[in-house]
Amino acid sequence: MELNGKVMVTGGAGYIGSHAVLALLDAGYEVVVIDNLVTGFAWAVDSRATLVEANVADDDAVRGAIRDHDVRAILHFAGSVVVPESVSDPLKYYRNNTAATRALLESAVSEGVPHFIFSSTAATYGTPAKVPVQEGDPTVPINPYGMSKLMTEAMLRDVAVAHPINYCALRYFNVAGADPQGRSGQSTIGATHLIKIAVEAATGKRDAVSVFGTDFDTADGTGVRDYIHVSDLAAAHVAALERLIENPDESLTLNCGYGRGFSVNEVLDAVDRVTNLTIQRRYEGRRAGDPAALIADNAAIFAALPWRPQYDDLDTIVRDALSWERGLAERAQP
Ligand code: UDP
Repeated sequence: MELNGKVMVTGGAGYIGSHAVLALLDAGYEVVVIDNLVTGFAWAVDSRATLVEANVADDDAVRGAIRDHDVRAILHFAGSVVVPESVSDPLKYYRNNTAATRALLESAVSEGVPHFIFSSTAATYGTPAKVPVQEGDPTVPINPYGMSKLMTEAMLRDVAVAHPINYCALRYFNVAGADPQGRSGQSTIGATHLIKIAVEAATGKRDAVSVFGTDFDTADGTGVRDYIHVSDLAAAHVAALERLIENPDESLTLNCGYGRGFSVNEVLDAVDRVTNLTIQRRYEGRRAGDPAALIADNAAIFAALPWRPQYDDLDTIVRDALSWERGLAERAQP
């Protein structure tokens, strides 16, 4: 696919962004990463990409990088991602997610960047009335994280009407796993996501895993989520970019999930199975801002993109997450 310039990846030193960088490079795109390295790591950026250390809200740095690198598309991953933290510190989320993206969009528009892909989230739906949830279902976030992303979706809609830019908002369900070739994975310090926590426990970094809530309206009472392998998610971005290039007058909002859910207990069963261990479970009360079940209806992404999942298997996701976690333990950094 001809882009006639580079792809800018914000948050490209982070977990999902670094996998998108790999997918873009593997597909033949040239990549410039913008990352402030607050939660990301310079070493997570593939050496074929250029890293610019800056905040996405730093207009001068972003506009300079767009010009210097002939940026023709922006994939925007940079942001804050911890739901409970968004409840206790909402203004951090409206700053890092909503306000920073507003600034980035202004830079994109003023420099004439024609394509924009946004990391949105299933948290925009809040507690869906039914699962699987479709893109047209009501978006009623129940935490500031989801609201900060939904506000960004609203900006994108308005900006695409007013300016020559099209966008794809990808609503991620629960992203987990690591590059099957071992080139990247989740290195986040103080991670809060279930599969990351569980593989930390499996590698001896924690003595147990808390199970937050046993009284949800789900089959076993624990929360149900649609876990998607990070490399499948990265591939969806490349497919979405190609669609945006081919159809410059069209924008899209698509769920990214496999269309099936696993409970917390089922995830921990998978970790036990893959590791041959019995990870200790500590049953606790619900965590702030957690809906009972989130599962994607993925008919729209299947219809819009040639994307098809390659790693739709919970044990594979856990196995890849575990291999990365074991490698991390051997690294000097972080
Ligand atoms: N969860 C849990 N223990 C943990 C972390 C998460 O029981 O240590 C549960 C959480 O309540 C939710 C599911 O696992 O039901 C997925 O949570 P995660 O933080 O991974 O992602 P989220 O769905 O909040 O984006």
